[in-house]
Amino acid sequence: MKILVVEDTQSSQLVLCEILAQQGHTPIPCHDGGEAMAAFAREKPDLVLLDVVLPDTDGFQVASYLRQQEAQEDWTPIIFLTVLNNDEDMARGIAAGGDDYLFKPVSEVVLNAKIRAMQRIIQMRTSLVVLARRLDSANRELRRLSSVDGLTGIANRRHFDESLEREWRRTNRTGSDLGLLLCDVDLFKRFNDRFGHQAGDDCLRLVARGLADTLDRGGDLAARYGGEEFAVILPDTSLGGAIFVAERLRQAVAALRIAHPDSPHGVVTLSIGAASIPASRNTPCQHLLRQADEALYRAKHAGRNRVQHQAPLTHPS
Ligand code: GH3
Ligand code: MG
Ligand code: MG
Ligand code: MG
Repeated sequence: MKILVVEDTQSSQLVLCEILAQQGHTPIPCHDGGEAMAAFAREKPDLVLLDVVLPDTDGFQVASYLRQQEAQEDWTPIIFLTVLNNDEDMARGIAAGGDDYLFKPVSEVVLNAKIRAMQRIIQMRTSLVVLARRLDSANRELRRLSSVDGLTGIANRRHFDESLEREWRRTNRTGSDLGLLLCDVDLFKRFNDRFGHQAGDDCLRLVARGLADTLDRGGDLAARYGGEEFAVILPDTSLGGAIFVAERLRQAVAALRIAHPDSPHGVVTLSIGAASIPASRNTPCQHLLRQADEALYRAKHAGRNRVQHQAPLTHPS
């Protein structure tokens, strides 16, 4: 271990360094607080032996300073060396960030034993830090998985519901419009019936990718809403804008040219219901969903492969 030896008495300094070197450690001698603080930053030692009475400051202040310098995940054991063997000083040392006390003159056996004990704590702490990091990344992965649709890899229904609520609240604050599209694959039952469920799944993956790739604004979100239905959240988007995006999405999916012999269009197509609500209307976000859903229903009844939008809003004049 690299050990900072902060001791102003030359003879004690020599003895300590010799004992440590014999045990295979690398002692870094420092003779006052200033030197110790500089060496701590420069050398990043594994342990600090810290004399309490120093020419420029006292060991308690040095310990407090070293603790402040440490990054949150770091911990370097500090063992005080002192002739002040009273209870108050010992308590002060621990309060200042020290981990143990050694009384001078230091016995070689005791010094080695204490260093070994600290080494053991360092090892346990390191394993804990590694474990905590793994746990952290597992949690992040879990959070990601819990918001992603397993089949298509885009946002799932849960993520959609949360995002819609959040965007709705934000829209109410900013006074902008929130656009929403509900997209449904046309005659998908026939597609499954002809090609099988596996091909149906592949088709949904392609459609999802097509939707996500066609959206180019940062805040827009495409999600799998359920079965063969997809929903798109369009923050700060008027009804005109939502219809424009819906038309682009419809064309993008048709352009994938996924063969669908049992559709009048010969390829997989989407029907889309578009809606957008100005923030002035202080209604729950389910209202926006209902508007888009009604528009989708009309798109289906008007012959599929098309975009329909909510009934025009009547504004008080
Ligand atoms: P419409 O144009 O009116 O929407 O007709 P449709 O056949 O698409 O609508 P319907 O609701 O009758 O059928 C939806 C089909 O979507 C039935 C179901 O088997 C299929 N489907 C839903 N989820 C999945 C899925 O995850 N994988 C596959 N392969 N098929 C799915
Ligand atoms: Mg001293
Ligand atoms: Mg459907
Ligand atoms: Mg359908």
